[in-house]
Amino acid sequence: MLRYANYNIVFQEIPGEVTLAINLSNCPNRCKGCHSPYLQVDEGTVLDQSELLEILHKYGSAVTCVCFMGGDAAPHEVEQLSLFLKSQHEYSLKTGWYSGKNELPPYLSVQNFDFIKIGAYEERCGGLDSPTTNQRFYRIEQDEMIDETERFRNK
Ligand code: SF4
Repeated sequence: MLRYANYNIVFQEIPGEVTLAINLSNCPNRCKGCHSPYLQVDEGTVLDQSELLEILHKYGSAVTCVCFMGGDAAPHEVEQLSLFLKSQHEYSLKTGWYSGKNELPPYLSVQNFDFIKIGAYEERCGGLDSPTTNQRFYRIEQDEMIDETERFRNK
């Protein structure tokens, strides 16, 4: 079951989009230097379709994208919620997923998202805006993953 700790409207995480970033808890990764240790705890509000609709009613027309931050303990639930969002045509929102894993989980269909970031946080490499980052940010076109990590360094 997915839970979220909080959400914010952000401008940096998905280039060119106004994004509602939902911070999912119960992160199974234990990155050294974790920027948000509170997200490692399994607590917060259950994020299911009805909760997502509640959030959309408040912010759905103010954003162009919804990004799931985390959710590596239940990636296919994240994927299902992304599909659900895409079925809400009145909002016509793009969807993104920030995973802290270095590889995508088996059986995930990337075309169910518009953007995917993968890669653990490694202190010595830095985040997406670092020239030495190990993380990758992809735009999804059909089932093709186009690496657009460079866009974070040109801001
Ligand atoms: S993936 Fe993010 S939240 Fe999870 S341990 Fe790593 S830095 Fe912390």
